[in-house]
Amino acid sequence: MLNLVLFGPPGAGKGTQSEKLIDKYRLVHVSTGDIFRSHIKNQTSLGQQVNQIIAEGNLVPDSITIAMLEEEIKKNPHAEGFIFDGFPRTVAQAKALDNFLMDNNTSITGVIALDVTEEELTQRIAKRQEISGRADDAADKLKKRIEEYFSKTIHVLPYYDEQGKLSKVNGIGDIETIFAELSAVIDEYNA
Ligand code: AMP
Repeated sequence: MLNLVLFGPPGAGKGTQSEKLIDKYRLVHVSTGDIFRSHIKNQTSLGQQVNQIIAEGNLVPDSITIAMLEEEIKKNPHAEGFIFDGFPRTVAQAKALDNFLMDNNTSITGVIALDVTEEELTQRIAKRQEISGRADDAADKLKKRIEEYFSKTIHVLPYYDEQGKLSKVNGIGDIETIFAELSAVIDEYNA
């Protein structure tokens, strides 16, 4: 199995690149942000539980997020691999994912971090908000999300680095160039 984590701050291009990578490598895309948004839209009890937390730009508690992610993996028993986008965002989530995959006789193949400056992120998300209308893309909420990234999520990087699984790709440039660089890293895993 090819199990990838696409890592990076809000607005790094994880969603855009994941969509392209799932086609090329026949992977299942697991975006915890997308799954939460779908629950909110459908007004499920989980959606009601997380709506406010997400609207404020805070992280959803690990217990809720991990349980949801495990359910999502279980829904795809025949997957050839997964691309995790927006998960893990804390070291506890990373450890839970490792344990869950190990129980299923698989593991994370590699983690690719998209490197983007904070200035570029702010500009990109401002544009995205005009199109997506996502409440959590508004300037003050975005500030909170970027803070969450630098206070909690960034610690996930050394966790994978210590396992020798971390690669970095420049996330600034045109979509196709970044896609080619990501593909080159993934092809190395397969080589
Ligand atoms: P995203 O679309 O990945 O930027 O996620 C949107 C929002 O969903 C985040 O700002 C968090 O509130 C929540 N969220 C998504 N993934 C996670 C996660 N792995 N852990 C905690 N909260 C998450």
